[in-house]
Amino acid sequence: MTPIAKGRLFVISGPSGVGKGTLRKALFKSVQGLEYSVSCTTREPRNREIDGVDYQFIDLDHFKDLVKEGRFLEWAEVHGNFYGTLKENVKRILESGRDAILEIDVQGALQVKESEPGAVLIFIMPPSEKELRSRLKRRGTEKEEDLRNRISGSRDEMLLSARYDHLVVNDDLGRALESLRKIIEGYRDPQRSPKSFS
Ligand code: 5GP
Repeated sequence: MTPIAKGRLFVISGPSGVGKGTLRKALFKSVQGLEYSVSCTTREPRNREIDGVDYQFIDLDHFKDLVKEGRFLEWAEVHGNFYGTLKENVKRILESGRDAILEIDVQGALQVKESEPGAVLIFIMPPSEKELRSRLKRRGTEKEEDLRNRISGSRDEMLLSARYDHLVVNDDLGRALESLRKIIEGYRDPQRSPKSFS
């Protein structure tokens, strides 16, 4: 019997301000068959963020209940807020035959790799810390203290990037997008090893 086609799980991480969100949106325009897994978070929405599209914005009690019920594939505390990926979201995407894209931090990515060894981890690197700092400042969504936290956190994240399957430097959006597209399409080669998701 022919096995049912299942999608693959791709995890994208990188320091705050590296341009993950912009790259992800550009990726969805240039590669078919991808679906973004919307995470849950306890952080307050930023202006223009839409509940259910950017995140599922939930309160801490609700988040804790979901943890207790074992509903998360992974979860982590990042910059003082909680974030998590619901198993049911990822399962639904993969069973539809599409590839799932998670945009999560390094702690979460390593948890995913542990439970789903077939997942592909991609780390987006800034060209330099100086450039990262100026991108974050330009974005202007964080207060000074949060900004400092995000920059110091990025050093730890970059150290853990050695455990990722692929690194993409975002020095130029077009070039980074092309690298990302090639990585994803490379895994669609039928010669590649099977995927897993329980
Ligand atoms: P932001 O508050 O800027 O949207 O996200 C802060 C960090 O949390 C980013 O590194 C982002 O990738 C990460 N993040 C977003 N969703 C999740 C998630 O579901 N799980 C984990 N572990 N990290 C997440």
